[in-house]
Amino acid sequence: MTAVAEDDVKLNCCIAGCGPAGAMLGLLLARAGLNVLVLEKHGDFLRDFRGDTIHPSTIEILDELGLAERFLALPHSEVSSLTARTPAGLDIDFSFRRLKTRFPFIAFVPQWDFLDFIADEAARYPGFQLRMNAEVVNLIEEDGIMRGLTYRDTDGEHEVRARLTVGADGRSSRTREEAGLRVIATSPPMDVLWFRLSRKQDEPETIAMRSGPGKAAILIDRRDYWQIGYIIPKGDADKLHAAGLPAFRRTLATLIPDVADRVDEIQEWEQVKLLTVRSDRLARWYRRGYLAIGDAAHAMSPVAGVGINVAIQDAVVATNVLWEPLRRGRISTRDLAKVQRQRELPMRITQAVQAFIQQMFFRAVLTSSKPPLLPQRILRLLLRLPVLGDIPARFVAFGIRRPHVASPALATPVEQPTATDRAEAVPVWT
Ligand SMILES: Cc1cc2nc3c(=O)[nH]c(=O)nc-3n(C[C@H](O)[C@H](O)[C@H](O)COP(=O)(O)OP(=O)(O)OC[C@H]3O[C@@H](n4cnc5c(N)ncnc54)[C@H](O)[C@@H]3O)c2cc1C
Repeated sequence: MTAVAEDDVKLNCCIAGCGPAGAMLGLLLARAGLNVLVLEKHGDFLRDFRGDTIHPSTIEILDELGLAERFLALPHSEVSSLTARTPAGLDIDFSFRRLKTRFPFIAFVPQWDFLDFIADEAARYPGFQLRMNAEVVNLIEEDGIMRGLTYRDTDGEHEVRARLTVGADGRSSRTREEAGLRVIATSPPMDVLWFRLSRKQDEPETIAMRSGPGKAAILIDRRDYWQIGYIIPKGDADKLHAAGLPAFRRTLATLIPDVADRVDEIQEWEQVKLLTVRSDRLARWYRRGYLAIGDAAHAMSPVAGVGINVAIQDAVVATNVLWEPLRRGRISTRDLAKVQRQRELPMRITQAVQAFIQQMFFRAVLTSSKPPLLPQRILRLLLRLPVLGDIPARFVAFGIRRPHVASPALATPVEQPTATDRAEAVPVWT
């Protein structure tokens, strides 16, 4: 264990987790001239269970940082409109073309490419450091204040002290558990089986939804293969396993005839991962010296694919509020409470909309039950009104009360960031 004396604390912020929330917070704080260390337990970002959707609100944030052009140079596909049909036959139109934005589309980018991009941009700032293969184990608490954390890597356990420790370690957050923050859980009615099937080059769709009695699936184009999310009623994975792989393959072929010719590529259950869908929120996102953001503060259901964008908006607001107190070296719980105050309502409305969609669409599909008619009828009427008709698209594109970058660019970036810069960056703690 490497002990660091309190007098040596030069680190403004230590972030557990380099998902969308942690990576963006690291970038923004380093850009504002602060010293920030991000710890990521995996050795790379190559995990296929991450979402891939970067919405207009996030591209606008990248634009405010002068990064939109470079981001859009990454291999990606753009979707400008989507139509979702509810089980009662109501078509909900998500046309982003009518929205006031320079980026009226969802960019589909494999999340590992997106995180590599953000981490590389962050590495251009001298105050940024990212350690991969570094698993956060504990928070350091002294006199009721979180003073930093311990993490484990191949060399053993290390201690890091920082003025602020941020938990951006996702929905199974170790740090929020360590901080003893109360979790309020809701119960989405579904889980997701996550697997791939090969994709033919001439297959056109970038994203597709298929549903049939008692089942639904989403197909995401990952160029060489389809990433498939097969939605099942919560807790039904054991039943599927008991019925056996041949039965699963038959069901798939019926549900998604487009890929019926290759369902045999699934040879064993190991190829099919169970993703437990969770939705929860912390009653309080902070303690003295500690703040949770992103899924660590509020695990988002995959419905409407907004979790990445919500996590990034948290990072933007956290930096807007905290960069100055962090720079002064005096951060109070009032500052941390301000972050929660600005983000809690948008997040709660988002989760409520997701719960509504789950109720209207997924529960009805998965239980083959009739969806509640009244909300459908009201929705049908409302969506006919010209202004209200754009609400679904606005919700997906921008989220609720989208923030803008208000933190300054006080550090000077180096010109050409490379992956090596990121790995070998030597932070200049001031
Ligand atoms: C099946 C499924 C599909 C989804 N699809 C989409 C989608 O298409 N679009 C969308 O916008 N959202 C989607 N979501 C939601 C989205 O994935 C999350 O809301 C979003 O990733 C949250 O970002 P985050 O940075 O807060 O957390 P995460 O993305 O979970 O990142 C947390 C990071 O912390 C690291 N970490 C965890 N523990 C530790 C530790 N102890 N020490 C160090 N590092 C640690 C993890 O390895 C990870 O890199 C989906 C969710 C699910 C379950």
